[in-house]
Amino acid sequence: MSDTVEESKQHTDGAQTHGFQTEVRQLLHLMIHSLYSNKEIFLRELISNASDAADKLRFESLSQPDLLGDDAELKIRIEYDQSAGTVSVVDNGIGMSRDELIENLGTIARSGTAEFLKQMSGDNKKDASLIGQFGVGFYSAFIVADRVVVESRRAGLAAADGVRWESDGQGEFTVSPVELERRGTRIQLFLKEDEKEFADAFRLENLIRKYSDHIGFPVSLAGGDEEEKVVNSATALWTRSRSDITDDEYKEFYKHLSHDFADPLTWSHNRVEGKREYVSLLYVPSNAPFDLWNREAPRGLKLYVQRVFIMDEVEQFLPLYLRFVKGVVDASDLPLNVSRELLQQNPDLSSMRSALTKRVLDMLQKLSQGDDYDAFWTQFGQVLKEGVVEDPASSDKLLKLMRFSSTALDDDAQTRSLEQYSEAAADGQDKIYYLLAENHATAAASPHIEKLKADGIEVLLLTDRIDPWLADSMREFEGKTFVDAASEKIELPDSAGEMTQEAANEEHKPLLKKVRKVLKDRVEAVNISQRLVDSPACVVAGENDLSPRLKQMLEASGQELPESKPVLEINISHPLLQRLDRETDDQRFTSLSNIVLDHALLAEGSQLDNPAEYVSRMNNLLLELDSDSSHS
Ligand code: ADP
Repeated sequence: MSDTVEESKQHTDGAQTHGFQTEVRQLLHLMIHSLYSNKEIFLRELISNASDAADKLRFESLSQPDLLGDDAELKIRIEYDQSAGTVSVVDNGIGMSRDELIENLGTIARSGTAEFLKQMSGDNKKDASLIGQFGVGFYSAFIVADRVVVESRRAGLAAADGVRWESDGQGEFTVSPVELERRGTRIQLFLKEDEKEFADAFRLENLIRKYSDHIGFPVSLAGGDEEEKVVNSATALWTRSRSDITDDEYKEFYKHLSHDFADPLTWSHNRVEGKREYVSLLYVPSNAPFDLWNREAPRGLKLYVQRVFIMDEVEQFLPLYLRFVKGVVDASDLPLNVSRELLQQNPDLSSMRSALTKRVLDMLQKLSQGDDYDAFWTQFGQVLKEGVVEDPASSDKLLKLMRFSSTALDDDAQTRSLEQYSEAAADGQDKIYYLLAENHATAAASPHIEKLKADGIEVLLLTDRIDPWLADSMREFEGKTFVDAASEKIELPDSAGEMTQEAANEEHKPLLKKVRKVLKDRVEAVNISQRLVDSPACVVAGENDLSPRLKQMLEASGQELPESKPVLEINISHPLLQRLDRETDDQRFTSLSNIVLDHALLAEGSQLDNPAEYVSRMNNLLLELDSDSSHS
């Protein structure tokens, strides 16, 4: 038995009481309170689970036909009893053994759930959308029921191995043995006093039609005086032709598939014929799941072969950076006994994978033409950036999907595409300038881009954690090359009429030599800057050096980096540098030179190696200021 279930009490009749795992208690509590206005979704969730159970049995019966016995038609039945105030969802699917029942309906297996639940605020509306990201499920039964009884018998087990699970959703559940004539699961909801309206033929029929029309198994309704009747059309949605499917049906199917209760942002449904024949139905959710960044989190598409469910979470169909995509692939020519190992080794699969990747990127390209793309980018932009790093073959398509903060925009909430950058660039500008920084404010105020800004040249501001790697992978976009505005060699456009760096260095040789001598332990070189306007100085990375931002990040993560010194650039027209140039006192010259360098480092968000020394220099300078003024 599971060790995560908290306590258990043995009763004389063979029943055993268990406490729910803490996370389940919290989830139950939140669900009942925050999903109140969405309560009817309980039926969708229970029908989804029943359909999954039928899928699993059909799959297991491929290798063990006996499991089906004399009950081979897999189906789902909704029963209601108006006078008793009950609704039941009954399936003849795979069922659960005693241990499975305790594990599945007493714990939540997804790692990170506890932290996720901590984010809940108590604000019902906000929490409702958070729970949507988590995916609701069986526990949603307690939104409308104050008592739930589950009876289940695992396919292949004997009638005497049936189990009954019962709970009021308050903190405990009881499990007891029960004789069950048939395999499968019955979930009976004892509706709360004010939810009894659900035990009604008309209401249920509408809900079943809404939630299960696209499910590949018949769903029937039984109760009252009426005869049992099948309510849905019982054809798997993706097998139908696109023109016969409404948007609402696509959306409902997504919710069935994902347990998300927000609509998807977009989807793409295609039939591929030829060497490999398959149907794919791919969805982009509107919210990132809470465990998007957890590398072990479930992800991937559902695989069917000729409508038979084979397995969940098939990761081989899409690259990791498209892990947010949900959907179904129904391949008609894969063997029914295909295994994960076989999928991994199947060389044909790589062409399917690149075709599906292309499908998703095309779908995103279409999405990017409309208003929903901002929402997509906020949720998934950082994941998509991984693609530029990991999938050079798709680089052209991916770069078009990137969005950036930019000096051409008023605030950091807005973004631009590279196409917009290109269009806005002056004729003849063959570079795309970018700057890496820790945050938007540091980037926007960075000395490195003063000249570019003054000349009206747009600079993209890259501040995400992944951006140093992204920048490293961005080589060229539509004929323009990417240039780091903080790199040592930077060609500014249209520098005609201005001196080259070599000439400027030559003109100020004595000063440069003196500064270099004083700072020789701290900098690689000192140059006259071409890129500064208002600031006295900045540091840039040497030609073969890591970018300063990447260095900061690697250092912060505790990595030892090889010793490397930055290049100092000074702005010779700045009064502070002119003051330095005139300085005759050696000690003052040394002190001022060091402060100029310290300030350049601080301005780009770097740490000083010796902050105490800086403070003492600065204090001396301030004291001099004081004695200067008291003498005057
Ligand atoms: P999810 O469906 O997201 O995994 P649920 O809380 O809805 O989460 O269900 C937990 C587990 O209980 C399911 O993964 C499944 O193994 C099992 N389960 C739920 N309903 C049924 C059912 N009708 N038949 C068999 N197993 C079920």
